[in-house]
Amino acid sequence: MNKPLPKHARAVIIGGGVAGASVAYHLAKLGWKDVVLLERKQLTSGTTWHAAGLIGQLRASANMTRLAKYSADLYADLEAETGVATGLRQTGSITVALTEARREELYRQASMARAFGVPVEEISAAEVKARYEHLNIEDVLGAVYLPTDGQGDPANIALAMAKGARQMGAQIFENVKVMDIKTDAGRVASVSTDQGEISCDHVVNCAGMWGREVGALAGVTVPLHACEHFYIVTEGIDNLGKLPVLRVPDECAYYKEDAGKILLGAFEPVAKPWGMNGIPEGFEFDQLPEDFDHFEPILEKAINRMPLLAEAGIHTFFNGPESFTPDDRYYLGEAPEVGNFWVCAGFNSVGIQSAGGAGMALAQWMEDGQPPFDLWDVDIRRAQPFQRNRRYLRERVTETLGLLYADHYPYRQMETARGVRRSPVHEILKERGAVFGEMAGWERANWFANEGQARAYRYSWGRQNWFENQRAEHMAVREGVGVFDMSSFGKIRVEGRDALTFMQRVCAGQMDVAAGRIVYTQMLNPRGGIECDLTVTRLSETAFLLVVPGATLQRDMAWLQRHLSDEFVVITDITAGEAVFAVMGPESRALLQKISPADFSNAAHPFGTMREIEIGLGIARAHRVTYVGELGWEIYASADQAAHIFEEILGAGATPCGLHALDSCRLEKGYRHFGHDITDEDHVLEAGLGFAVKPDKGEFIGREAVLEKRKTGLFRRLMQFKLNAPEPMLYHNEPILRDGKIVGHLTSGGYGHALGASMGLGYVPCKGESATDVLASDYEIEIAGRRFAATASLKPLYDPASARVKEDG
Ligand SMILES: Cc1cc2nc3c(=O)[nH]c(=O)nc-3n(C[C@H](O)[C@H](O)[C@H](O)COP(=O)(O)OP(=O)(O)OC[C@H]3O[C@@H](n4cnc5c(N)ncnc54)[C@H](O)[C@@H]3O)c2cc1C
Repeated sequence: MNKPLPKHARAVIIGGGVAGASVAYHLAKLGWKDVVLLERKQLTSGTTWHAAGLIGQLRASANMTRLAKYSADLYADLEAETGVATGLRQTGSITVALTEARREELYRQASMARAFGVPVEEISAAEVKARYEHLNIEDVLGAVYLPTDGQGDPANIALAMAKGARQMGAQIFENVKVMDIKTDAGRVASVSTDQGEISCDHVVNCAGMWGREVGALAGVTVPLHACEHFYIVTEGIDNLGKLPVLRVPDECAYYKEDAGKILLGAFEPVAKPWGMNGIPEGFEFDQLPEDFDHFEPILEKAINRMPLLAEAGIHTFFNGPESFTPDDRYYLGEAPEVGNFWVCAGFNSVGIQSAGGAGMALAQWMEDGQPPFDLWDVDIRRAQPFQRNRRYLRERVTETLGLLYADHYPYRQMETARGVRRSPVHEILKERGAVFGEMAGWERANWFANEGQARAYRYSWGRQNWFENQRAEHMAVREGVGVFDMSSFGKIRVEGRDALTFMQRVCAGQMDVAAGRIVYTQMLNPRGGIECDLTVTRLSETAFLLVVPGATLQRDMAWLQRHLSDEFVVITDITAGEAVFAVMGPESRALLQKISPADFSNAAHPFGTMREIEIGLGIARAHRVTYVGELGWEIYASADQAAHIFEEILGAGATPCGLHALDSCRLEKGYRHFGHDITDEDHVLEAGLGFAVKPDKGEFIGREAVLEKRKTGLFRRLMQFKLNAPEPMLYHNEPILRDGKIVGHLTSGGYGHALGASMGLGYVPCKGESATDVLASDYEIEIAGRRFAATASLKPLYDPASARVKEDG
C-alpha cells in the first residue's frame, strides 16, 4: 500500500527509469525540496532494467562529450554515497575499422577526442589482437582505443541515483500512473494520477518510450517512437578474462564481456518499430518475442569475427524496446508550448551513459532558468510540431537505430520519411536537377546535378561527387548571379502598439529605425550569450518581420513569447505564407532590372533596406541583405506568387544554387552559423559580433553582460581559418593547434572554392591578449591525426572590407 501522495510538489518527475532517477537526484542535490517522482509500475521496469550497460564517453560534440564524461564519473562515485554498487568498471573500449572510410572516421574521431579532452589512442590490428585475443583481425584496418570507457549495471545505476535522491529528501512513488497534466495561463499547474492530484510548479517528462504520450497530455510535442533492440548473451566461456568493450560498427555489432560471458548487441540497418498501437498497459520488466531471422545476419558475421561464439552456446536471446527520435538525439529542456514543462527522454539506446549528465544539466537549467551551457544538440525546442505524426515517426525510426553504427559521413542525409515540408517551388527545383537534403522536415535543394549526372549523394570523407557542382554554383555567385530558394527561413511577424518597445528589449541592435530598414541583430540572454541570430525588417511603425534560421523557429517563437510582459504585441509565425529567393552575385542588380521596373541602385535601394517591388506579373518585397558576401537581394514573395516569380528569376538567367554553395560562400566570408559558431553560451563580443550590439540605445536583455565584457576584455575569440594546402577537407570539430598545442576545435568547416582551400571557424582562448598577440601565433588544424598549417584571421579572408556587398551600379 502506497503512502498518500502529497497535495503539492515543486517538481513532479514522471518516470522511474535512469532518466527520472537522475533528474530527481540532481534536483535534490541542488537543494530542491518537495521533489516527487512518480512511476507507473516499479523503478527501472521500462527500458532501463535490460540495457547492455556500455558507458562510452566520446559523443559527437564537445558538450555532449562533457555530459557523458560526467555520467561516468558520477557512476563511479555513487556507491560510496549511496551504498548501491553501480558495477562501473573502466574496461576501456576498442572500435575497429574494416574499411578505409571507417578508419578515416575513427581517426577523425580520435582527433576530436583529443580536442574534447578524452584520452584516446589509434592502434593497429596487431595491438587490437594484443588487447582482445579472441578477435579475428584478418580484415581489421585500424582501431581506436579509449582507455577511460567502461561498462556498468544499468538497473543499479538508476537505483543508486534513486536512493541518493531519497536520502536528500525526494519522494518516490511506485505504482502511480500519471493520467493527465493541467496547465494554467501557459504553464503547468498540476498532474492527475490514478491516486489523486498533485499541484506543482514543474513537471519533468522522463517517461522514455511513453514520452510522446506523456507530452501529449499537456499539448507538448515529443517526437519519439519505440524500436526493438536485440542482444544475445552466451553461456559461460572458460578463461575469457576481463575484456574491453568492443565495437565493430561495420558489422553493426558491439560486444561486452560480463561475468565470463559475452553479450553481443546489434544496431542493424533497418530496425523494427514497436508499439504502433500504444504500449500495452501491463508492460513491466517485459521483453519482446525473439526474432532470430532478424538477428541472424549479425550473428553470422559475429561468429566469423569472434570464432569462440560458434561453440559458446546462447544463454539468452534478448529483445527489448527503446525510444528513438527522428535525428538520433535525445530531448532535454523546457517545452516551447508550455512553461515549466521539462523533457528528459528519447535516449536512442545511449540513455545509461547519457542520463547522469542529462539529469545534471536539466536540473541546473530548471534551477537557473537557462541551460548551464549550449545544449542545442538535444534541445526539445528543435522538435517540429508535424513530428508528432505517428506514421512519420514509425518510418523514420527504422533508420535512426541503424545510424548509430552506420558510417557517419559528412553531409549524410536521412532516407526515410522525407518530403513532408516543401517550398512552393519544389517542383521547379526538381526539374532543374536539385538534389534535396532535409532540415526540420523541409526539403531543400543542397546542390544541382548536371544533365545526365546521378541525382544522389556518393558519400566519402574526401571530395564527394557534388564537389564540382558546388564549385560551379559557388563561382556563379562570386562571378555572375545565383539564386537560392531560402523559403525554409523562419518568418515571424511581431506587431502591435508596443512592438517597438518589445523589440528594443529582446534585441541587442537598434530597432528604432525608419520603416523599410533592415537590422542584423542578435537576441541575447542575460549572460550575453546568443539566443538567436536574425535580421529584423521594420515593415511599418507598428510591425516588424523577423527572419530566423528554419531550424530555430520553435525556439525563437518560444523565446519571444516568454519575454512578452504586458505589452500589446501579437507574435505570428508566417513561415509558410512567404517564399524567399536570394538573388546573389555581382550580376544580381542587372538581372533584377530585367524583370522589375524598380530602381536597384545604391541611391534608391541601399544595403540594409527593404522596398516593395513589381516583379514579373506580381508584387514582392526586395530585402537588400546577404549571407554569401556579394551584392544581392532576398525576394520575399507570397506563397501564391512564388512559383511565378521564381520562374522569372530563373528565366532571366540566374544559376540555381543549393545550400552547400551557400555554406561554402558564407564560410569564406566568415559569416557565423547559429548552433555551430554562435550559441547561447557564446558571448556576442567574443563571437566578433560587437558591431551589431548597441548598448547606448538603452536597456535590453544582455546589456549588462555586454558592458561587463567590455570591461574585462575577451577571454576567447572566434577566428577564421584557411588551410594552406588545397586538398584536405574540413567538416567541423577538428582540433585547432596554436603554436603546437591544442587550444580548441572548429565550430564549422567546409570548402572555400573562391579561395581554393578548406575553411573553418573556431574559438581561440585569448585572455589578456590583444588581437595582434593572437594573430602572431602559428596555427594548425588536425585532421585524422595529421596536422595542417593554416592561415588565421580575425577579418573575413574573402573581401575583408565588404566592398562587393555595397557595390554601386
Ligand atoms: C537492449 C537494449 C540495450 C541497451 N544498451 C544500452 C547501453 O549499453 N548503454 C546505454 O547507455 N544505453 C543502453 N540502452 C538504452 C537505455 O536502456 C535507455 O536509453 C534508458 O534506459 C532509457 O531510460 P529512461 O529513463 O528514459 O526510460 P525508461 O527506463 O523506460 O523509464 C521510463 C519510465 O516511465 C514510466 N512511465 C511511463 N509513463 C508513465 C506515466 N504516465 N506515469 C508514471 N510513469 C510512467 C515507465 O513505466 C518507465 O519506467 C539499451 C536499451 C536496450 C533496449
